[in-house]
Amino acid sequence: MSGTGATTWVYDFGQGSKEQKDLLGGKGANLAEMTNLGLPVPPGFTITTDACRYFLAHRSTPPELADQVTEHLTALEKAMGKTLGDPADPLLVSVRSGAAASMPGMMETVLNVGLTDESRHGLAAQSGSERFAWDSYRRLVQMFGKTVLGIDGDLFERALEEVKREQGSDSDLDLDAGHLEDVVRRFQAIVTEHCGRDFPQDPREQLDLAINAVFDSWNSERAVIYRRRERIPADAGTAVNVVAMVFGNLGMDSGTGVAFTRDPGSGEQGVYGDYLQNAQGEDVVAGIRNTVPLTELEHIDADAYRQLRGVMARLEAHYRDLCDIEFTIERGKLWMLQTRVGKRTAAAAFRIATQLVDEGLIDTDEAVRRVTGDQLAQLMFPRFVSGGDATELTRGMNASPGAAVGRAVFSSETAVEWAGRGERVVLVRRETNPDDLAGMIAAEGVLTNRGGKTSHAAVVARGMGKTCVCGAEELDVDTAARRFTAPDGTVVSEGDVISIDGSTGRVWLGEVPVEPPSVVRYFEGAIDPDSEQADDLVRSVHRILTHADRVRRLGVRANADTAGDAARARRFGAHGIGLCRTEHMFLGDRRQLVETLILAEDDADRQAALAALAPLQKQDFLHIFAAMDGLPVTVRLLDPPLHEFLPDLTELSVRVAMAQARGEHDERAHRLLAAVHAMHEENPMLGLRGVRLGLVVPGLFAMQVRAIAEAAAERRRAGGDPRPEIMIPLVSAVQELEAIREETEEVLAQVCEEQGVELTAHIGTMIEVPRAVVTADEIATAADFFSFGTNDLTQMTWGFSRDDVEAAFFSAYLERGIFSVSPFETLDRAGVGALVRMAVEGGRSTRPDLKLGVCGEHGGDPDSVHFFHDVGLDYVSCSPFRVPVARLEAGRAALGAERAGS
Ligand code: PEP
Ligand code: MG
Repeated sequence: MSGTGATTWVYDFGQGSKEQKDLLGGKGANLAEMTNLGLPVPPGFTITTDACRYFLAHRSTPPELADQVTEHLTALEKAMGKTLGDPADPLLVSVRSGAAASMPGMMETVLNVGLTDESRHGLAAQSGSERFAWDSYRRLVQMFGKTVLGIDGDLFERALEEVKREQGSDSDLDLDAGHLEDVVRRFQAIVTEHCGRDFPQDPREQLDLAINAVFDSWNSERAVIYRRRERIPADAGTAVNVVAMVFGNLGMDSGTGVAFTRDPGSGEQGVYGDYLQNAQGEDVVAGIRNTVPLTELEHIDADAYRQLRGVMARLEAHYRDLCDIEFTIERGKLWMLQTRVGKRTAAAAFRIATQLVDEGLIDTDEAVRRVTGDQLAQLMFPRFVSGGDATELTRGMNASPGAAVGRAVFSSETAVEWAGRGERVVLVRRETNPDDLAGMIAAEGVLTNRGGKTSHAAVVARGMGKTCVCGAEELDVDTAARRFTAPDGTVVSEGDVISIDGSTGRVWLGEVPVEPPSVVRYFEGAIDPDSEQADDLVRSVHRILTHADRVRRLGVRANADTAGDAARARRFGAHGIGLCRTEHMFLGDRRQLVETLILAEDDADRQAALAALAPLQKQDFLHIFAAMDGLPVTVRLLDPPLHEFLPDLTELSVRVAMAQARGEHDERAHRLLAAVHAMHEENPMLGLRGVRLGLVVPGLFAMQVRAIAEAAAERRRAGGDPRPEIMIPLVSAVQELEAIREETEEVLAQVCEEQGVELTAHIGTMIEVPRAVVTADEIATAADFFSFGTNDLTQMTWGFSRDDVEAAFFSAYLERGIFSVSPFETLDRAGVGALVRMAVEGGRSTRPDLKLGVCGEHGGDPDSVHFFHDVGLDYVSCSPFRVPVARLEAGRAALGAERAGS
């Protein structure tokens, strides 16, 4: 952004729309939308995210900004008939952050800007309340002091507590005008002491400083942590909204609240939200005072309630989705302060999507776009079994569903520290605030004893898909002493295991066992989606997945090496196996036979060892082919370095030494030790493995191919329809593949002849080595299919040893923004993705009918699935539990949905 003459940095609410989130931020865009819908929004203007980016880059605002703010402020003053900070009748404004992506509570808001020692008199005169004017002023000094001047917020909290204590009260509502004046004086003294200057008395200076503080809060620690987790780009910047103040703290006929057009927890239709009388702005969201359910508003102020219901219905129809709303009632008049498409739990997302289809607001394509694979994965987490011997301690509010078990911890730091050493923890707090974010991320779940479903803990936990029980008021939480006391007197200290159920709000001492949720039982075939047994959620998931299957182009297979996994994968909707790893089949009792194979000194010994392994291998394949009858089963020939099947060097050395010490001679152990030494590799992942093994260990691959072919022949004779595919790992040069292909075809032909059956099997290769990518056109001449082994391909592209690097330095890389997510989790499109694309093009250039799939972990990762769709693969293959996720994301990719959902 150049910042030259023509740039518009400021937009009036009347000038924008909900489509302009990137420029105006979500809050600004939606305030503009509501303004244009004619809803009661206090007038104001938005300073763009461009201006924020300019500020962050230049450490100063764009030169034209001050004039543009003046212009819009003047218009605002005109509309309100008041002047900012006018001593007689001041216009006051709030200064609110608002990025394109919602970042609940992560950045700053300053209310009541424009109040000074002088204009406070005007506010008192106009409102007719000295108390109100002092209360508004103390809020300004407090928020401004903390947010804009960077003073430790605790100093203000403590000063306020002190005055309350001196007055013998524990609610700020008990403080009268005189007490609040005292508070303001103390706050001002804090400012002077810590900033070396007095609290600014120039309203415009207050406004400009507050705007810059919002820009700065983009890079606050908690905002950075949140963005990293939510994968929000670090350079997006925030907009700033300057809004005429309306007051919810003018008396009991005023108040402030939060509303949802549907229950964000379950998706149920109705009136959900919280209301707090005689309160301002953040009081509700902060969960500091206890709110009443929104339905109570009907009895408090029937007119305002009716009007609010009307606005809610209007917004939902307009946005065609669940909206959440912040509103204020000022002396009976309703004002809308914010709306957005609301965050919701995974279950609510599915249920709402199908409800909206039934209500005719969206079509089924859109319903598929509205849910995500991550949400579906959450629905597949286990849930608590009722009963057991854990003691129920209490019930709180079911703020964010899930079953969390872990040791109770009472601070964010402890949560991070204990989780870092592998402990599962549940973070217990009186209420959470944005400083607890790191602990919330580290914990399995969050438990608070204050605040409602719209408290910070609840909102943030839902956004993260983290289990949360909030407002468990019966618990006496003592964070300083690191314990809480249940109503029956049970004391739970830091380190004790507790279980919390975010779907029911129940809290137990001890570990409650878990069971599969209804969605998994549906996938397993135990619940018929058309029967009475199926709940709403199962029906919604069924409808959405059925539609995703209808529209998707990508096939979905599973990675499975046992008949059990194959059968489950099939129930979960897999159309075949994309990777059957054979290494697991050589472990356990069979390790002995592999040792014998490795120790074989001549052909006869080797043949004998292979002959012993062959029937066992055949049995493995028989069961897998049966489970996947009629569907392709891609069997990968042995891949890992052989020493993985040999005993550990140290263990073996000790065994030999001990035998020697006893005067015995263990010949086999001696020979094994020699073999282990001989096979030692400095970099085994780059050593003798994959196709290289097949080329240097005579008969190994042939034995595996024979087992596959004989199993297929036997299935065929039994009336089955086996569809084996043979896959060669770690190929780098076409010559490697040609040699193994020739051997494989010979064995297949022999078995056909011996067994008198017709057998065909596709023979293909994995693409895991950069050289294979670069020579994909050649390799394709010897391959019927390619399957991208993106685990190895990532490892070899980055030069990262995948077994070592994640623990060693990934957190440093994530912190420094070198990548925003591990490339082993989500495909690195720019690097590894470019290689995949190159191999697709190369392979198809010489072999247009080449079948293309992926079987690395990325095959079940939502973001990566979209990439594989775009690049034109035929299928993805992933672990059985990820199959439904891949089906859904493949459907969403075909419908052009964004990965993160709408
Ligand atoms: C891969 O490299 O992506 C792959 C599937 O093989 P493995 O993880 O078994 O090396
Ligand atoms: Mg591999």
